[in-house]
Amino acid sequence: MSLTTRDEVYLDGSWVTPAGSERAAVIEAATEQQLGTVAMASVEDVDRAVASARRALSGPWAALAPAERAELVGAFARELRARAAQTAELVSRENGMPIALSQIVNGMAPYAITRLYAHLAGGLGGRDERPSPTGGRTLVVREPVGVVAAVTPWNYPQALAIMKIAPALAAGCSVVFKPPPETALDALLIADAAEAAGLPPGVLNVLPGGREVGAHLVAHPGVDKVAFTGSTLAGKAIGEVAGRLLRPASLELGGKSVSFLLPDADLALFAGKLAEISLPNNGQTCHAATRILAPRSRYAEVVEAVTETVAALRVGDPLDPGTQIGPLVSRMQQEKVLGYVDKGRGEGARLTTGGARPERPGWFVEPTVFAEVDNDMAIAREEIFGPVLCVIPYGDVEEGIAIANDSDFGLGGVVWTADEERGVEVAQRVETGTIGVNHYELHINAPFGGVKESGLGRELGPEGLEPYLRHRSIYLS
Ligand code: NAD
Repeated sequence: MSLTTRDEVYLDGSWVTPAGSERAAVIEAATEQQLGTVAMASVEDVDRAVASARRALSGPWAALAPAERAELVGAFARELRARAAQTAELVSRENGMPIALSQIVNGMAPYAITRLYAHLAGGLGGRDERPSPTGGRTLVVREPVGVVAAVTPWNYPQALAIMKIAPALAAGCSVVFKPPPETALDALLIADAAEAAGLPPGVLNVLPGGREVGAHLVAHPGVDKVAFTGSTLAGKAIGEVAGRLLRPASLELGGKSVSFLLPDADLALFAGKLAEISLPNNGQTCHAATRILAPRSRYAEVVEAVTETVAALRVGDPLDPGTQIGPLVSRMQQEKVLGYVDKGRGEGARLTTGGARPERPGWFVEPTVFAEVDNDMAIAREEIFGPVLCVIPYGDVEEGIAIANDSDFGLGGVVWTADEERGVEVAQRVETGTIGVNHYELHINAPFGGVKESGLGRELGPEGLEPYLRHRSIYLS
């Protein structure tokens, strides 16, 4: 079977030709050449998939005891692991992610996350009977919330999909998953893994498609919960639909996080982690810490360190393990990012490195740094989603905190300081869902999500299972 020509979608436990005739060309980000083609689902396919997912809720899947479900989810995890190398390479070719990162987030993370939820699924049994003050008892049971609509973006296509699919399956839900056209090829490997693991028909349906298909799915009367990751704009539109339908929705949206250097920060430590924390996946990362807040007393020193570090990054073929910055996902994204570079210049920020499109095929943008950035500028306020950093000066730490919080977003962040306790104090005053002190990582066993326009709800960790369960109280005499 070709991994790059896919004529069918995965629906009701079978590979089927979609109802419409639309096919998307998948273009390799580093070469601008066609990598493959993929059949796009239509709204009719969504209707069939939702019906199949509903049937699954009363079939053999629903009859499984938690331990049996855990076993099946564990088998799914192993099938994902068996495809890890293929998946990592495919994503790097689709969206330009450097392979070293792709092997972790698209290769191993799906396995690790699914294994975590398989383990948590096993713990869902047991009887929770509570004595009532009137002398009776109440049996509290947790049950699957139902059919889940999972809609994801192209930037971390595997991890973001599995952060929804794995807890949903662990809870006993069924899923209709709609990946975007840019990364549809790797999404279908998830369907291959589900089939090989023997998940019953309808438990996981994978329907690559565009926005209209996504919009049809999230508003579908047969859906019980929406799990979305993507832009704030789309998240608000989906939130409106979910509000109207009184349908629970988790929304993981955009970001503009800070890398906040306190006056006693270790600059070498900060510079050593700059690429990983501020420019992961070529800057196409929702939690990237792209606003660097530097104390005025050390501003010149920080600008120099950021500029030197960014100028030395290895830009190149995403399939080369030494590459630190690959191409962006598409020409549209490249043009958008270069547009922000022009905007930054026009707003009076000082470009210290980068800013151009390298002379080579592929949708590259040179890693770019702006100094003398005011927090009111568009480059400091809007999510650029490319390799562009802003260094913003502040006076005292109180002013730094005020600038950090003067943002529509709140998703990630890092505080740099020699005093960890002070770092945790400052971290707690930054309005954000996740933040580090001298480090930042997505820990699969800790909740991840945003505040303000970065979204609603949390994924990962035991907390990430809760949205897929609902409680029923049964009063006993
Ligand atoms: P996007 O919002 O354009 O698309 C995301 C997905 O939603 C795609 O599958 C798309 O087809 C679908 N979609 C778009 N509009 C829809 C609608 N009205 N109804 C239903 N489905 C719809 O986002 P993108 O450009 O593909 O991805 C980049 C964005 O994702 C960035 O803003 C980034 O910050 C965000 N993101 C957030 C997180 C997080 O965890 N907070 C993680 C990764 C990416």
